[in-house]
Amino acid sequence: MNEERIQTLQRLMLANGVGCVALVPGANLRYFSGLSMHLSERPAVAFVPVEGQPALLLPVLEAPAARALLGDGVPFYTYRDEEGHDVAFAQAADALELAGKAIGIEYLAMRALELRRIELAAPGCRLLAVEPWLPPLRMSKDAGELEQMRRAAHIAEAALERLLAIQAIAPGRTERQVAADLQIALLAEGSQAVGFSPIVVAGPNSAQPHAGPSDRAMALGDLVIVDWGAVYEGYQSDLTRTFVLGQPGADVERIYDTVLAANQAGRMAARPGVPAQEVDRAARRVIALAGFGEYFVHRTGHGLGLETHEPPYMVEGNLELLRPGMTFTVEPGIYLPGLGGVRIEDDVVITERGSETITGMPRELRVL
Ligand code: ZN
Ligand code: ZN
Repeated sequence: MNEERIQTLQRLMLANGVGCVALVPGANLRYFSGLSMHLSERPAVAFVPVEGQPALLLPVLEAPAARALLGDGVPFYTYRDEEGHDVAFAQAADALELAGKAIGIEYLAMRALELRRIELAAPGCRLLAVEPWLPPLRMSKDAGELEQMRRAAHIAEAALERLLAIQAIAPGRTERQVAADLQIALLAEGSQAVGFSPIVVAGPNSAQPHAGPSDRAMALGDLVIVDWGAVYEGYQSDLTRTFVLGQPGADVERIYDTVLAANQAGRMAARPGVPAQEVDRAARRVIALAGFGEYFVHRTGHGLGLETHEPPYMVEGNLELLRPGMTFTVEPGIYLPGLGGVRIEDDVVITERGSETITGMPRELRVL
């Protein structure tokens, strides 16, 4: 358990009138405990009381690894497959005196499985969402976290450079083949998982910001959007570069230059004390002035860390003030039906005096 982070959490619990927080495997659990477990049919829950030592409910087969990480101070409530988990829930609820308490749960992550077990084991409890106040705790990264994020960015860039060096993105190859090559390259470069499935979309498919790779063979003249990332010690990178197959026409150059300028304007606007929406506005203004406003159909960026999408969001209406250590993407795009799309995405960290872009791969239009 990270004592300092747990204490910060407990202070916030007190302020929010919560007697205990129940965390399931995922980013929050990892942040507070270091445990990188996965949600499975065998429930695991960390209970953090407002005062005192957290406790962990988990399947017995996960206990040795968790014990090695957490030491002897944390009480464990384990269960075996053949006995089921209801007794363990009852024991944990009794020990932590959960009955009648206000319990904070992750509305975006906890399943009906854990929720019903807690309700049954703790009669009269009230389950409250922790989302308004807990994830923002993770927004400002410390030096160690930033180091992991830099590693994740470098790994991602090395993986794509590997593909470019062997001309893996070329007419005749399919989007899916390139995406598969990229997953292998990410792991080969040291990504500890494939964080999210790489998006490789070309030609007409590139005009849809949320399309996935298809079996269409890429053709001369296609714009090719590659959106990918690596994971290092749980921390994510998330980049996008757009390439063109063969010499681009004037229309392609025009939208590319506009997106590049918008990406730069968004990153320049990122500094401490500025509301998050200003990053979106700065990028959007460039695209609107060039006459493509209606083709920029998503927010400019999202927070990045243990999750690929987390607060703060770079979106109109978000008045959250940027603070040193906050990490997020700047990823404007233009998507023209028929012609194709361009998106350029970089990862930014707010510093004491401005911001630093931790992704450094060249942004100029690359002709393949
Ligand atoms: Zn992305
Ligand atoms: Zn992104």
